[in-house]
Amino acid sequence: MTGLILENVEKHYGSACAVRDVNLHLPEGKLVCFLGPSGCGKTTLLRMIAGLESLSGGEIRLDGEDIGHTPAHLRNFGMVFQSLALFPHMTVGENIAYPLKLRGVGKAEQQARVVELLELIQLQAMIDRPVAKLSGGQRQRVAIARAIAARPKILLLDEPLSALDAKLRESMQVEIRQLQQRLNITTILVTHDQREAMTMADIVVVLGEHRVQQVGTPIEIYRHPANEFVADFIGSGNIFPATSLGNGRVGLPGGDTLEVPASLGVNPGERIKLLVRPEDVQLSSPQASAGNRLLGKVTFVRDIGATIETTVECSGVSFTALNTPCQGMDLGIGQPVSVTVPAQVCRLLGT
Ligand code: ATP
Repeated sequence: MTGLILENVEKHYGSACAVRDVNLHLPEGKLVCFLGPSGCGKTTLLRMIAGLESLSGGEIRLDGEDIGHTPAHLRNFGMVFQSLALFPHMTVGENIAYPLKLRGVGKAEQQARVVELLELIQLQAMIDRPVAKLSGGQRQRVAIARAIAARPKILLLDEPLSALDAKLRESMQVEIRQLQQRLNITTILVTHDQREAMTMADIVVVLGEHRVQQVGTPIEIYRHPANEFVADFIGSGNIFPATSLGNGRVGLPGGDTLEVPASLGVNPGERIKLLVRPEDVQLSSPQASAGNRLLGKVTFVRDIGATIETTVECSGVSFTALNTPCQGMDLGIGQPVSVTVPAQVCRLLGT
């Protein structure tokens, strides 16, 4: 099978487990994000793939070949770390040429490749500039050009954007994604930022508690989280304890019931967790009658410009709604309100 395959990959430091039993198939040409909270094992897993960390168990194969014990310099993977690790005393051109020089590529070919890469990252005019005199975004691009200079089989990016301010970070996310698609290079990006993963990835691998929690496209992970950990980590959500009543209904702690898709199939009496995304919660006047509706009282309102966040207490739980100002009502604390939750947006989670 082509692509990168990880089978039962494990990493232990003494008695502590950093990565537990990871099984993954990363297809060729895709951008895969390792996403998870701090300390869950993202960097350790990436470093094992790079060959910078030994495996405590399992196998790593690339296009069918076992590379789990191949030294890092023989894997031909390009890497960009958070620190970028550019050589400050060298020019842009010298930095990009460095990996080619290490591989014994001739001067003329080095030069031609540097020119080609500078065109790709649109820094043609800066070939002789010391990297110390570049902006954060320009340095970022040079680091990526250097990582892909030797035409690596895989590009590994470990939180490369975390030192940038929010606006530059967003534009670099788009640039990296476009470059990756143009070059069709298999790329693994480590991030703890779920927005970054959602906007950049073909496939998201959610890691938590040192193991893989779910693998899927960004929309699968968001709309159909495998468990409470993923639902909670990806985006904000209303997650409540509930009891299945059978026939596509669940009971909330305060005694009210809601319709959920019957296809979610849980046995009557089973205790489950109900997930409703805040943008799916609709608020209306308490007199409104139709639909999957609960009556409650507003406990919190925050206008954040593009959206209004409202919290409503009903049936023993707190629903948060995110509406655009034109959808929202002009609500104040303590006001009675009706909360409508369309059945098709309700998800039941395994715990
Ligand atoms: P962050 O987002 O904060 O970088 P991460 O998800 O990348 O976190 P890792 O750096 O992979 O997490 O660390 C996973 C676990 O392994 C952590 O508990 C960490 O303390 C531990 N760990 C990592 N490197 C070592 C090491 N060299 N020796 C001992 N423990 C380590």
